[in-house]
Amino acid sequence: MTDPALAALAPDYVRRIAPYIPGKPVEELARELGIDPATIVKLASNENPRGPGAKVRAAIAAATGELTRYPDGNGFALKAALAHRVGVPPGQIVLGNGSNDILELVSLAFLEPGDEAVYSRHAFAVYPLATQARGAHGLEVPARDFGHDLGAMRAAIGARTRVVFVANPNNPTGTWLPPDAVRSFVASVPRDVLVVLDEAYNEYLEPADRADSVAWIAQHPNLVVSRTFSKAHGLAALRVGYGVMDATVADLLNRVRQPFNVNALAQAAAVAALADDDYVDESRSLNRAGLAQLYAGLDRLGVPWLRSHANFVLAKVGEAGRVNVALLKQGVIVRPVANYGLHEWLRITVGLPAENERFLAALERALAERN
Ligand code: PMP
Repeated sequence: MTDPALAALAPDYVRRIAPYIPGKPVEELARELGIDPATIVKLASNENPRGPGAKVRAAIAAATGELTRYPDGNGFALKAALAHRVGVPPGQIVLGNGSNDILELVSLAFLEPGDEAVYSRHAFAVYPLATQARGAHGLEVPARDFGHDLGAMRAAIGARTRVVFVANPNNPTGTWLPPDAVRSFVASVPRDVLVVLDEAYNEYLEPADRADSVAWIAQHPNLVVSRTFSKAHGLAALRVGYGVMDATVADLLNRVRQPFNVNALAQAAAVAALADDDYVDESRSLNRAGLAQLYAGLDRLGVPWLRSHANFVLAKVGEAGRVNVALLKQGVIVRPVANYGLHEWLRITVGLPAENERFLAALERALAERN
């Protein structure tokens, strides 16, 4: 921080936050390399490489006809569509500017300095960020086989714990917990501790593997389920997600929410996306094939990887910093995960078949440079 006097105006717990490191933007790398952005492959932020489907694009185009007025701050149409889909009244749904917003809103409504939030090592980076921004203490529980150790997380819950974050599947490891294990965990958590079950990659799971987690809320009102339109629905740029929770919890989140946190184009797009199951099914199939392609290619290169239940794979490339730079020089952007304590690994988002091939060819060259 360049001006210590100015920086001192912020609370100590804000100054101590290590900022979120996003995937490198295509335009930034294009500027650095002096090349055409169209030649760059970005497999760094777990988007659906197909983007939104035709029906969703048409809905967005139609919605651009009204950009003058504020959007519906209560998101009536989107909440109605979601309520119908997940089987709860609209009052149990909170819309977010991405599901990231839901994680922030939970922290804003339920954490204060001195409180504690529990999450797993190698779990999504926003859990510590949202915790620290409230001056609360983050308790990171050691991982088991790169995934959540639910028994250890339960044991870590103490008198000051207000929130527990669980990502299923988890980013960046791609690990997954079977529904029974998650349900037992939720049932074991004291009622005065919120469990945030982050299901951002839910639609990439095979239907048989998905938990009926929303149905658990009736019995466990301390459960918040968050989901997003950024991943399988292909709407990452528009920023729209949602949380399903007890109506009392929803009411509290709505008190700390910005009045118009989900823009009009995002609301229209999400309504259309929710109606297009075929598109999500096709995207899941493409992802399954893409994972198989990446696994086979990594095997061929002798690079160990973790089996993923999402749309990315973690690969152990060794000197990840050097390999990442070598990939960038070839116009391929993936995600280093040293900030997750995974120093020898890179996370690769599943792309279109040709993009996956481009990555594998670039990785082969990057690994050969070492020898
Ligand atoms: N949860 C997890 C586990 C994620 O990986 C992400 C995206 N990186 C999010 C939540 C937030 O995504 P969004 O805000 O786009 O919904």
